[in-house]
Amino acid sequence: MSDTVLDRASAPRPTPKPGILDIAPYVPGKSKVEGVEHPLKLSANENILGSSPAAREAFSTAFDQLQMYPDGRSTILREALAATYGLEPDRLLFGCGSDEIFQMLNQTFLEPGDNIVQGEFGFGAYAIGARACQAEVRMAPEPGYRIDVDELLKLVDERTRIVFVANPANPTGTWNSGEEIRRLHAGLPPSVVLCLDGAYAEFCDDPAYEDGMSMVREFENVVVTRTFSKLHGLAALRVGWAYMPREMAAAVDRIRLPFNVNIPAQLAAVAALGDADFQRRSLALVNQWRPWLAQQLGGLGLEPLPSAANFVLVGFPATPGKTAKEADAFLSARGLITRYVAGYGLPNHLRITIGLEVHNRAVVEALAEFMKGAAQ
Ligand SMILES: *Cc1c(COP(=O)(O)O)cnc(C)c1O
Repeated sequence: MSDTVLDRASAPRPTPKPGILDIAPYVPGKSKVEGVEHPLKLSANENILGSSPAAREAFSTAFDQLQMYPDGRSTILREALAATYGLEPDRLLFGCGSDEIFQMLNQTFLEPGDNIVQGEFGFGAYAIGARACQAEVRMAPEPGYRIDVDELLKLVDERTRIVFVANPANPTGTWNSGEEIRRLHAGLPPSVVLCLDGAYAEFCDDPAYEDGMSMVREFENVVVTRTFSKLHGLAALRVGWAYMPREMAAAVDRIRLPFNVNIPAQLAAVAALGDADFQRRSLALVNQWRPWLAQQLGGLGLEPLPSAANFVLVGFPATPGKTAKEADAFLSARGLITRYVAGYGLPNHLRITIGLEVHNRAVVEALAEFMKGAAQ
């Protein structure tokens, strides 16, 4: 028996396996401010328009089914998604949010000593699940706050099992072209899973962008994940899905908890998918205000990154009095909650979800005041 096994056997209380206590607890964005009654939450990239009226209506019909177990195959949602996007139903996998899908991929492919590769500012959920599998998490530099194909490939070795890329990315909002993603794929051994996290895919309409669905059909090692949490405004219901090769779906599905997507979630997601009007309005709002917000922030002497998602990441000076941390406190005190992203390795940035016109103007006005105050 190894030393750790003996140590754990003789410990005075149950001891988590090695690595668990090295995982930093996930800190979600703030949603409350002391002394402010109704703060505006622009910290979690939620849909500021709420959710589709059709989805709300469908959710309410679940009242009569609370005693029942859900359909473990999520058949109604499977068929609706397959029809909407022209996908084969048996290549779809559902999760309690896409978070659970990352978890299932990690559990399926990682054994102790394996590794995953992601960008240095990559989404935290990939790493938590990988560490829980006693795998190593390798973070590739992101020069210019963008995923760099060569930097990712440099970290890939014979113990690499999964490469995670969010495209567009969170928290940076930057994205990679289909050409870049294909070059990344071409540089990976066929044994490595390339997981393309498309949580913000709907928000990127650049012709050079590729959502990866056709790569899933072309190759046996590409997975695309999507979510109902952002565009569809159903974050509370936790519905994520993945499109993957058949063999992979058949493997991952074995460890899926049998009833992981609940009935209200399935009903609301199907209705949301059919509500083109709500999707259009949500996209139009972001398309109208994202460039405006970026331009205004730039005008204040701040450094917004070009974003292809429903938020803007903005850089602050490191000068005392003008820092992102102080700006975060200044905004919070005025009831405006944005996301301080130091936990992502970005201590000089704030991530701001696009709001309604009145919200976006309030943020800009408050930051103008902040920068003016700081100048004195
Ligand atoms: C919000 C988000 C998701 C979606 O997570 P869910 O678990 O589906 O709510 C996935 N990836 C990234 C990068 C995100 O920002």
